[in-house]
Amino acid sequence: MLPAADDLWPGRPPLLEDESFSSWFARVAAANGLRPAELYRLVQPSGGLRPRDLDRYGDIHLLGAMADKTGVSREALEQSTFRRWAGWAFERDDGLVKLDWLPPAGREKAKRCFGQQVCPSCLAEDTTPHLRLEWRLSFLTVCPMHGHLLLDRCPACNEPFSILRQERREGVCCWSCGADVRRFTGDHPPVDPIPVQQNLLDTLNQGWRTLGSYGPVYSFAALEILALIARRIAGGKYAYGLREWISLHEPRLSLPPETLPRVHDWALLTPRARCVLVAMAHHLLGDWPHRFIVAARSVGMASSSVYNPSNEYVPFAYAHAVEWHLKEPHKFGARYEVASAKSVLERHGIKPTYRNLKELVGTKLAAMSEMAEPVGQATPWGQGRYWKLDGVSAEVKEAARHAAHRSGENVAAWLDKVLRKELKLPDMRLS
Ligand SMILES: [Zn+2]
Ligand SMILES: [Zn+2]
Repeated sequence: MLPAADDLWPGRPPLLEDESFSSWFARVAAANGLRPAELYRLVQPSGGLRPRDLDRYGDIHLLGAMADKTGVSREALEQSTFRRWAGWAFERDDGLVKLDWLPPAGREKAKRCFGQQVCPSCLAEDTTPHLRLEWRLSFLTVCPMHGHLLLDRCPACNEPFSILRQERREGVCCWSCGADVRRFTGDHPPVDPIPVQQNLLDTLNQGWRTLGSYGPVYSFAALEILALIARRIAGGKYAYGLREWISLHEPRLSLPPETLPRVHDWALLTPRARCVLVAMAHHLLGDWPHRFIVAARSVGMASSSVYNPSNEYVPFAYAHAVEWHLKEPHKFGARYEVASAKSVLERHGIKPTYRNLKELVGTKLAAMSEMAEPVGQATPWGQGRYWKLDGVSAEVKEAARHAAHRSGENVAAWLDKVLRKELKLPDMRLS
């Protein structure tokens, strides 16, 4: 039921289709002659002086109050916040953890946050300039319409954009220096990230994607794996190694090192650097997990440097791939791993010898030598290729080899005959 007209505020701009909640909130404030912070204190008197990032932290009470006063439906308002992507871009949001692909905007305590991206060209073409919710996704770095890098800070004063700190003005401007964002232009990206970001948007909108040998996985799990890979490429001791491996295998990502600075928190990277990082991580996500494993091994990464199972939850398709392929020898699980490898070989009719196990697992494990089947087993005695007269002196071996050769036999057959005679056993025809 619509609220009574008396309860409505005079300024009630409609929520635009792709608009973010904070953008609409700022427009409602301006339409009623208020600053966003003033409107916030009016609808949420128990909140702080300034609203936090409302795309994420606008709670149901705030959304309900805004719906009641503007006549816009609560459901539509919810869809203009990060709630739209719960179960899609992230599994759930307790308000405390970092969301991999939705970094904070404005300021969190004293820290400047660069999670609000904008396309000045889109704003310049808008009848009603407004922020798109999708601009909050940090794997999106280029405007698909204009092909320019998005801006995450004001080119005039370098402050991050924060529409909720904006003064009582229409349009989108820098809250700090007041510059109209429409007068800027984004730069050209160092690589063409459109196919990658479109692929990620499709994954997000579909809710799942096929991840190589792991089959279909939820979109939030795929994006989480992408973030785990991005973190290794952005910083840490394997960062440069991985980048080098990628540039060797994917020439279009062979870029000068300064394109992508090494950082601990990759949410702080500019759209320019992030577009390279996302493209690199996406490359390693291809043919999952094989390409990533080959790259990880080539730079000497072991599972313990990729994630810590005791204090980090990661999607199965990542944990399993890492545990299976990058596990160091002698660690817990080695016997289990060898047993699994053994059954894989047996199912394929391949003998689980030490060499075959090592080839399948890709590394030597201590448990292999005791669990592998000996090469010669099940071969008729004396015909094994590697039959070596173990324990027999070199002199006798040589003489036996010579005698066997002279009699036209191989060593095993000749020795069998000699021993049978000595032991008074009946002759046996070797098959
Ligand atoms: Zn644009
Ligand atoms: Zn500025």
